[in-house]
Parts: sequence; C-alpha cells; structure tokens
Amino acid sequence: MIDQAATDFEAVHGARPSGVWAAPGRVNLIGEHTDYNDGFVLPIALPHSVKVAARRREDGRVRLYSAQGDGTITDLSLDGLTPGVVASWAGYPAGVFWAFAEAGHPVGGADLFFDSDVPTGAGLSSSAALECATAAALNDLYGLGLSAPELALLAQRAENAFVGVPCGAMDQMASACCTDGAALFLDTRTREQRHVPLDLAAAGLRLLVIDTRVKHDLGDGAYAALRAGCERAAELLGLDALRDLPPAGLTAAQECLPDDLARLVRHVATENRRVAETIEHLGGDRIAELGPILTAGHASLRDDFRVSCAETDLAVEAALAAGALGARMTGGGFGGSVIALVGATEADPVAAAVRSAFRSAGYADPVAFTAVPSPGARRVA
Ligand code: ADP
Ligand code: MG
Repeated sequence: MIDQAATDFEAVHGARPSGVWAAPGRVNLIGEHTDYNDGFVLPIALPHSVKVAARRREDGRVRLYSAQGDGTITDLSLDGLTPGVVASWAGYPAGVFWAFAEAGHPVGGADLFFDSDVPTGAGLSSSAALECATAAALNDLYGLGLSAPELALLAQRAENAFVGVPCGAMDQMASACCTDGAALFLDTRTREQRHVPLDLAAAGLRLLVIDTRVKHDLGDGAYAALRAGCERAAELLGLDALRDLPPAGLTAAQECLPDDLARLVRHVATENRRVAETIEHLGGDRIAELGPILTAGHASLRDDFRVSCAETDLAVEAALAAGALGARMTGGGFGGSVIALVGATEADPVAAAVRSAFRSAGYADPVAFTAVPSPGARRVA
C-alpha cells in the first residue's frame, strides 16, 4: 500500500492501516432545498474527496485524526458515544460509529486518519464526504456488506441526530452512490436512483465551480427555519410534503398561504420541475440548452427562497456577463459555491471575470475549478 494516507496513518497511529477509502464531495446541478420536501435532486460527485486510512481496534476505542484538524487525536469510547458529547469536527465520524451501533450493526473501535481536498463550508459537502468515507471504511473493516444507499442513510442519520444538522439525504446519497461520468437522479421520497450520463466534454462544455469562500453565519438557523416553513406550508395545504403539490395546483396553493410560505412553495414546486426538465435535456443530448434552467433556478433561490447573498449573486451575474450559458448558486446558500455552465474554452475567462468582479467589490478572491462527474465512496488501497 503506497497511498500517502496509509503512510500518514502509520506516523500518527503507529501501525499500518488495513486499507484506505475515499468519499467525494458533491456539487448539485439542480434540485436545491428539495431533498427535505420529498423532492428530486441531481448532484454529481466531485473529483475532490476525503480519504481515510483505517484499522480495526478490539478495545472499543475510536481514535480520530484529521490532517485538517488541530494536530491531536480525538480518543473516544464507542460505548460512551451519545449525541451532544463530541463538539468538534470529530462529531461527524464519531456520529457514523454511533449510527451504525444504534442501527444494530456490529461495529467495534477503529483508528482512523483523514486527509481531504474537499473545501470545507463551501457548499460542496465536505461533511458528507467525511461521514461517507467513515461509513465505507467501517462497512469493510467489520464485513457488514451494507449497500451504498444504506451507508448514505446511516451517514445522514449521523449528521441529523448526532451532529444535529437537519439536512436531507442528498449530500450523503451523492457521496456514497454517484458514479463516474454521470449525475445521480434521486427521488428523495421513494429513494429511487438513476445514473444519468453526463459527458460535458463531448458536448464541448465545462462545469465551472466557483467557491466564493464566504459563509454567512445566519445559515445554520435559517436552514432549520426554512425547513420548518416548508413543513408548515405542506401541513396548511393538507399535503404530506411539498412534493405532492401538482403543478396545476401551484397558483391556488399560493393564494391560500401567507406570502412568506407561498414563496417557499413556489421555489420547491418550480425547482422540482427544473430537475425533470434537466433530465429531459440530458437524455435528449441538449446539455447546452440547460443554461437558462440553471439561471432560472438561481432567480428562484434568490427571490423566492431567499438563500442567496451578495457574493453568490455577483458570481452568477459576472459569469453570465462573461458568456456563461447559465449559472446558479449551489448548496444550502448564504455563501458557498456557484456553478456555471460554460463553453469548453470559456472556463478560464469566466473564472477571471468573476475574480475581477470580486476584486472590484472588495471581496476576497474566489476559488474556481472545473468539475467532472466522479465516482462515489470506494476503497482505494
Ligand atoms: P460543507 O459540508 O458544505 O463543507 P459543513 O458545515 O456541513 O459544510 O461541514 C464542514 C465541517 O465538516 C467542518 O467545519 C469540519 O468540522 C468538518 N470537516 C469537513 N472536512 C473535514 C476534514 N477533512 N477534517 C476535519 N473536519 C472536517
Ligand atoms: Mg455539509
């Protein structure tokens, strides 16, 4: 095993690991804030991943070290894991151990070493990558034979119940289940999944990801409030979830709701439709025509759902002005990243235009890269 993470594991934990696993971050093409409304999402996995080198322990201890952490080992007892006891980054992987045990899967302790190139807090799901890498390692170390969707749901359970973030299933499903060269269509109610081939290069296109490097604090509380607002609207409309609103019922639904809830409903309903339209375009080889759908998705997040911010709006506007075919914020919002669909030779000029607009506005330089659909969680060494 010549993997760097294996070598680094040995330096920290004093023995060779049994293997190395990797789980990617993700970027969502379309379908934002739909996953907790039983709706549809269409993410791709990024080439960036969290790698974890790991080895079983037979004494019930969970020892966690991250190259992006504080330089110390977090040493926990598996028996003592309960929600709320681990406040640091280590809560994400510790939560996965807890979720496995809570679901009755026979896991014991382990030594883990993490290293990652997924930007954190950028709306690219470094947290899901951290959880899914842990879940993939545990699955193999303890011979559990769980499927990728099962691992994703345990990872989501860790984030919801152990860390306390009320996220939907998209991030973990993307990190666990995506495949090379395809977007992942996910029906978050039925959990039906479909791999939708996405060959951007063949269409003469690139997907530019622009990390604005801002994260506004109000995001955490606002996310829970938005989720509660969607659930309240569904209840007032007599629906199990906003996913159940038929397209023809949108106008009537808006009329009987207060404006703040009507806006949320409009976003969710139109966003689910945009996911369906995107899939039709991909199936029909009309990738280049996706631009306006992405841009309409941004307007909906900005004006109706109100989760955009000055930086993400500026990145979208500057990308479009520089010739992007379409652009939108991606991820939960209040900062984070923007995606832009661009012609094959336009990635650098569009990224430069966004950088220049940020400088003029006095913002820090954004970080831009092009993303190709990459594989989900897997053993790499
Ligand atoms: P996102 O998932 O969009 O990147 P989150 O706020 O959900 O943003 O998760 C980011 C958090 O995940 C970080 O603050 C940190 O606690 C944890 N994290 C992610 N990657 C790592 C890593 N490689 N090492 C340690 N902690 C990490
Ligand atoms: Mg996250």
